[in-house]
Amino acid sequence: MPQIDWQPIVIKDNEGGTQPGTLHVTVYSPRERIVRAAKAWAVCWVLALLALPIIGLHWILVPALTFAGVLLGYQRYRTASSSNKVEGRCPVCHGTIEITLESAEHPPLWKYCPACNAPFSIETSTQEMAAI
Ligand SMILES: [Zn+2]
Repeated sequence: MPQIDWQPIVIKDNEGGTQPGTLHVTVYSPRERIVRAAKAWAVCWVLALLALPIIGLHWILVPALTFAGVLLGYQRYRTASSSNKVEGRCPVCHGTIEITLESAEHPPLWKYCPACNAPFSIETSTQEMAAI
């Protein structure tokens, strides 16, 4: 079972205003990473096998899905954690924000406030400390 974790982040606007926030991430153990990689790899190769009897298309689908299985498996294995969402307060309008992230998105990020459309950066607290 993947572990849901959170990290403190800092939400900064262009004028230097900051607000604390929380980044929710899913953390995968080494065993879960192997299982996820094997599943992605297996799905691609099963689809490649299913594409074998399709006349004409099998010349494209079988090599592409075979190659995609290896690539997806490797990519899944390398993914140690995936981002879920960011929660916090907008440094401009001070409204509560909750932004859903793509799994591959990691701070530092640039996003827009859903309420006032102001741009802001999302950085981890350790990045904030390193900049000082
Ligand atoms: Zn705002």
